[in-house]
Amino acid sequence: MRIDLHTHSVISDGTDTPAELVANAAAAGLAVVALTDHDTFDGLPEATAAGERIGIEVVPGLELSCSREHQSVHLLAYGADPEDPALAEEMVLVRNGRTGRLRPVLDKLAELGVPVSEDEVLAFVGSSPSVGRPHIADALVAAGHVLDRREAFDRFLADGGPAHVARYAIDIGRGVDLVHGAGGVAVIAHPWGRGREQLLPSSILTELVAEHGLDGIEVDHQDHDAAARAGLRQLADRLGVLATGSSDYHGTGKVDHDLGVNTTDPETYARLRSLMDQRALTEQRAPATGRTGG
Ligand SMILES: [Zn+2]
Ligand SMILES: [Zn+2]
Repeated sequence: MRIDLHTHSVISDGTDTPAELVANAAAAGLAVVALTDHDTFDGLPEATAAGERIGIEVVPGLELSCSREHQSVHLLAYGADPEDPALAEEMVLVRNGRTGRLRPVLDKLAELGVPVSEDEVLAFVGSSPSVGRPHIADALVAAGHVLDRREAFDRFLADGGPAHVARYAIDIGRGVDLVHGAGGVAVIAHPWGRGREQLLPSSILTELVAEHGLDGIEVDHQDHDAAARAGLRQLADRLGVLATGSSDYHGTGKVDHDLGVNTTDPETYARLRSLMDQRALTEQRAPATGRTGG
């Protein structure tokens, strides 16, 4: 049984519609796929319906944009309630913050001699509810300023890069709390990819588990080399949290991230599933969420 717990549709910055993504996951031999678009649940109804039609299990997921020391950190959430008011409110702020910084980023790019217009960027946004750096990267590629998204990030758009503009972000500890508040399971995404090892060393991951109850660590990811994977697996085992693996598939938007390129083992998935079930029950019982139920 092959399980892939991290994918993106066109609703955030992938290229497949949610239904296409689920069909492609089945074609790739996956039994379980999680849709984890950035800061939106909008693709889940279509993905879930496609899963029922095609006969593949779709896990309702999310990749929440968080930060630590002004650098971006991603948090995967599974089974979080899309109607949870606190989480929904924060996601609106994140999405607005992202759209609001388009102008200053474009100004910086023009100063750097690689101009793209707002319209050129918006042409790549599609049905996504917000404009993100990947869309700006696509416009830079289309304008011939860079060869691919990777180069756009490496030269201009990455955190701390010459065209980077900081935006509203949720502290990672608070992000874990929000996911739990919405009845979800929180797994930190690719923590040691692309120089994040300094930002999220073992001590910080340990603290997130101890103080916020972080549920898992994404271990097998294309941004992690063999040493990072080994170190993270050991850490997850020591902390007793889930060690997941996934593709971070973006359709044709990201090379070397094919569906199922990394997977989560069935035993780990069973643990994640039972945590999801427990949280959903606890959330229903908790009056603090302010919902009337039913
Ligand atoms: Zn990510
Ligand atoms: Zn992702």
